[in-house]
Amino acid sequence: MPTKALLHSAKEILGLKNAIKNGKIDAIDFKINYSKIINSSRESISKIRDGLSFLMTKNKIEVINATACFKNDKEVELTYSDNSKDTITFNDLIIATGSTPRELPNIKVNGKNVHSSKTFLTNETMPKNALVIGSGAIGLEFASFLNALGVNVTILEALDKVMPQADSTISNTLKRLLQDRGITIFTSASITKFENINDDIINITFTDKKGVENSLTFDTCIASVGVIPNTKNIGLENTSVNVTERGFIIVDNKMKTTASNIYAIGDVVGAPTLAHVASREALIASHAICNIESNLNKDVIPYGTYSFPQVASVGLTEEQAKEKGLNYKSVRFPFAANGKAVVSESEEGLIKLIFDADTRKILGCHIIQEDAVELITEIVLAINNNLTLDDITKTIHSHPTLSEAISDVCNL
Ligand SMILES: Cc1cc2nc3c(=O)[nH]c(=O)nc-3n(C[C@H](O)[C@H](O)[C@H](O)COP(=O)(O)OP(=O)(O)OC[C@H]3O[C@@H](n4cnc5c(N)ncnc54)[C@H](O)[C@@H]3O)c2cc1C
Repeated sequence: MPTKALLHSAKEILGLKNAIKNGKIDAIDFKINYSKIINSSRESISKIRDGLSFLMTKNKIEVINATACFKNDKEVELTYSDNSKDTITFNDLIIATGSTPRELPNIKVNGKNVHSSKTFLTNETMPKNALVIGSGAIGLEFASFLNALGVNVTILEALDKVMPQADSTISNTLKRLLQDRGITIFTSASITKFENINDDIINITFTDKKGVENSLTFDTCIASVGVIPNTKNIGLENTSVNVTERGFIIVDNKMKTTASNIYAIGDVVGAPTLAHVASREALIASHAICNIESNLNKDVIPYGTYSFPQVASVGLTEEQAKEKGLNYKSVRFPFAANGKAVVSESEEGLIKLIFDADTRKILGCHIIQEDAVELITEIVLAINNNLTLDDITKTIHSHPTLSEAISDVCNL
């Protein structure tokens, strides 16, 4: 949520810049108040935290502020902030200790000018020239945020495309749109040297996809290269809970670990590391403890990237459909042909739909558009309920809306 608040501020600034560019506002000289943007994000988070505290109290959930460490399969030791300790026993327990940003071996995060996705949120100085390492959802969020504020942004991605997991059409389109906004992108980049002089000037050397060596200088670096699970210091060695080689907790489809009364959910069990997946897994674990049947269909999870423009997807990419040897078809619809997108000056982007050529059931959908993440839910519902393209076109979509583009892509 903190980054979403930052992106909201960035979107306000972009709106102002566009209005000036289009001549709707006579050029005004404005200055970005970076610390206000950061503070405004903190204020939003504080409101959300208060709301959650209220819900905990209302639902009679006791929250203990302490660090937990397993003593065995039935007991947890708590350490409070004043170092006092306590032990609690439990019948069933759900581990939800989350994850920590992964660090690259030669790139030391110092929280000053070299950041992880977490430390950057505490940074109060606006960079001038920022390097973002990694073009996954989080790296792209930071890159879009800083670019909107007028910071020079360069993205280095080790793999051969931005958003490496995305459908290639989406990845290529997004790369072009980010470059149009002034973001420099190097894919297939391999870092050979990283120097941080006096925690102030970062010199980086890397080879690009042509094998050419490049050296660039930045004032700030944000490394966004995945996460490691928070399983190291929680006493798992005192329990029967097993972890994978990379430290993620092994669970079954009811989120039960290898200890019969201990469950685990969220980032600590591995990809996809998303908040809505964590909360669904929490529901499944709670249901399992209460002997209520429920399941998670990992094939129908929506993914959202809050870049400018946003990217959202669900189901198979075209590459995956091809790899599986499916008899599929793919169709695309540009937002330039959607009235609402045109009048709101957000016509960049497209919807790509992949469907079964025989049954016309939807296999996957990928959207690039300013509000893509809001739009994908209709397709998530459709795939979850085995709906066909025709079920969607039979449904009346309000006019003018961006969602008409979904109906239109199903009509092609
Ligand atoms: C910059 C950024 C942007 C993101 N954007 C999105 C997004 O747009 N959409 C989305 O779905 N996901 C997003 N995510 C991912 C999302 O935040 C995580 O998937 C989600 O928070 C995981 O929930 P969790 O409960 O597993 O862990 P967390 O939310 O990390 O919670 C773990 C909690 O456990 C506590 N803890 C750890 N160890 C102990 C211990 N020993 N004792 C007691 N407490 C402990 C931690 O202090 C923490 O409060 C984003 C992540 C980042 C970093």
